[in-house]
Amino acid sequence: MTGAMNFLILQADAAEGASSFFDSPWWKFTTMMAKAMLVAMWLALAFWTYKDARRRITDPLMIGVSVATSLIFPYVGTLFYVILRPPEYLEDVLERDLEIRAREQELVGGANRCPACRTPVRDDFLVCPKCRRELKVACSSCDKPLEPSWKICPYCASEQGVGRKAKSAVAEEDELFA
Ligand SMILES: [Zn+2]
Ligand SMILES: [Zn+2]
Repeated sequence: MTGAMNFLILQADAAEGASSFFDSPWWKFTTMMAKAMLVAMWLALAFWTYKDARRRITDPLMIGVSVATSLIFPYVGTLFYVILRPPEYLEDVLERDLEIRAREQELVGGANRCPACRTPVRDDFLVCPKCRRELKVACSSCDKPLEPSWKICPYCASEQGVGRKAKSAVAEEDELFA
């Protein structure tokens, strides 16, 4: 009987201890700090969203929407932003565009380079001056530089083919014996 009484008293003491613990200035200070941390985290995430959105989004309205989402829905809004944001930084997109344009230009300019050794050549060169590769063939009639695949000279309208084929065959033989 006294044992049960003692137990009840101990329990009451424990409850009192607990309530005084939750009333203690230390606990109040801790919870206040925790709340302040949560608020600081929330604002920091919104600020981070602003900084990140500015690097990825050009439209100011969309940047505003991103930041507002982060502010209105603490933490979750930022998570949504991270899921939905454009995958690339604007500067990376720009850099890639420039790279592609540079490569395109190189391809276009590639017509004016020797396909074998990449030496810059002029449109009317018959052979590459550096590696001797045949670039164009001279018209059998007017000697203008023509593409090897052309059937007829666009300058003098003379048929190309038989004579030239013989010529290139001779050139190949020369190469073989060289
Ligand atoms: Zn060449
Ligand atoms: Zn011609």
